[in-house]
Amino acid sequence: MSEKTDSTEDKQKPRDLADQLREMLANANISFVSNPGAQTPAPEPTVPADEDEENEALRRIREFSLRPREIRDYLDRFVISQDEAKKVLSVAICDHYNRVRQCLETPSLADAEYAKHNVLLLGPTGVGKTYLMRCAAKLIGVPFVKADATKFSETGYVGYDVEDIVRDLVRVAGDSPDLAQYGIVYVDEVDKLASRGSEGVRDVSGRGVQVNLLKLMEDTEVKLVSQTDMIGQMQAVFAMQSSGEPPKRTIRTGHMLFIVSGAFDKLPEMVKRRLGEQQIGFGHAPAAQDDETYYLSKVETRDLVDYGFEPEFVGRLPVRVGLQELSVEDLEAILLDAEDSVLRQYVSDFSGYGIKLDIRPDAVHEIAVQANREKTGARGLMTVMERLLREFKFELPSTRVRELVIDAATVQDPAAALQRVLAEKEHEQDELLREEVEAFCRRFREAHALAIAFAPETVDAIVQTSRSTGKTVRALCEDRFRDYEFGLGLVARSTGQETFVLPVEAFTEADAYLSRMVTASYGESKA
Ligand code: ADP
Repeated sequence: MSEKTDSTEDKQKPRDLADQLREMLANANISFVSNPGAQTPAPEPTVPADEDEENEALRRIREFSLRPREIRDYLDRFVISQDEAKKVLSVAICDHYNRVRQCLETPSLADAEYAKHNVLLLGPTGVGKTYLMRCAAKLIGVPFVKADATKFSETGYVGYDVEDIVRDLVRVAGDSPDLAQYGIVYVDEVDKLASRGSEGVRDVSGRGVQVNLLKLMEDTEVKLVSQTDMIGQMQAVFAMQSSGEPPKRTIRTGHMLFIVSGAFDKLPEMVKRRLGEQQIGFGHAPAAQDDETYYLSKVETRDLVDYGFEPEFVGRLPVRVGLQELSVEDLEAILLDAEDSVLRQYVSDFSGYGIKLDIRPDAVHEIAVQANREKTGARGLMTVMERLLREFKFELPSTRVRELVIDAATVQDPAAALQRVLAEKEHEQDELLREEVEAFCRRFREAHALAIAFAPETVDAIVQTSRSTGKTVRALCEDRFRDYEFGLGLVARSTGQETFVLPVEAFTEADAYLSRMVTASYGESKA
């Protein structure tokens, strides 16, 4: 709602805004912003604008020679299971980039009729649909962007226009349209553009977005600066004024690879019904198969049209593949075998504190079982690991614990396990806190050229308070002794004393003790 209001206001006061922008552009280095109403945050460039790197990336595209098996083997390193999807995608990617290479070698080919290998991925959330494409894009060295179809509005005046995703791709390519034209565009949640399957009515704006997407997937020219992007428009004018050359204004989408995906919750049921009816027609019993993946693999164009997609839209997505739910074994393999696995990340996080994290096989199994219950695919692993280790991560870096063994019991009851680990190191904890008290005195000396030390009872009191309040020694001391630099400085000036051994009252009634010291020192200096 607020976006709509903002955007209306924007249009009512173009002159004011334009003036402000002109001023801003003249005075500052303003970064490129595309659609002011866009809901999706601008992506970070993943392919740097560096000219050498851009040339290298373009060279790799021109010389593309990967084989489907090579792509599949690469994907195997990161993505567990999904063998069918890996094969289908590897072939689609090779076909696409071979075609790009051929068109670059023989430009006349680009005018010939050719059905692009845009892909439709069907499957539940968190099973690797996006991850597969991200990995593939990295291997080929092309920019990759992802957007949710639900964010697109038909007109683009409010919200995100489908063409904004192409502009995002340019940004991800380090503002290189030359590289972006070979990039991969991933649109998730396309099933939400078709409401007929779930609601029984056709959603008009969903249809409009399908038509707009359809144009992109074919071959169209997209303006590099959106018409609603005033800053971008003005930057283009300024750039032209300063360089004297008109910058490239449009980008073609003909060589981009489009991947669309969705969960298509109701689709397996619809396919099952169709198959059942067909089989009854032929005198057979309905299919006994009850696996959603099985029915997704049997999806035909008419099912997608019945679901609520425009036939032309479905027609531009000739490559279709269903991804399967991840089993407990798959989730275990993701933790143990996948490169970049979340488990490795946690091991590295703990090693940052000098703690060796040792996750036993029974714990890995238990984590996978719990993640499976979350029903969010591999994302569940992150949820479970976070829940399991968050308190350990908070507490252990402030202890002497140097190794943390996680077994199934720890996964089942992390709080109890943490208490056990802390209790084992209990006797060493006081020693550690004492060292922190000593470290505070050292820092005070170095920072203020005044030597302070604590009497043994003072150290005991600080350690006890740190334990009972859960506050670090550092925070406690910095709070209690925050005026001591100034106060002891006065004492030092009056009496020449430079070393102070602070008794327990200096901690328990810090302000009162300091005032007494300062007052006494004035008395001494007068005497
Ligand atoms: P979606 O299928 O919803 O697109 P993603 O591909 O974004 O899900 O998966 C989310 C995260 O889960 C990925 O970044 C990756 O770390 C992990 N993941 C998902 N599926 C797999 C898989 N099959 N193998 C390894 N990691 C996976």
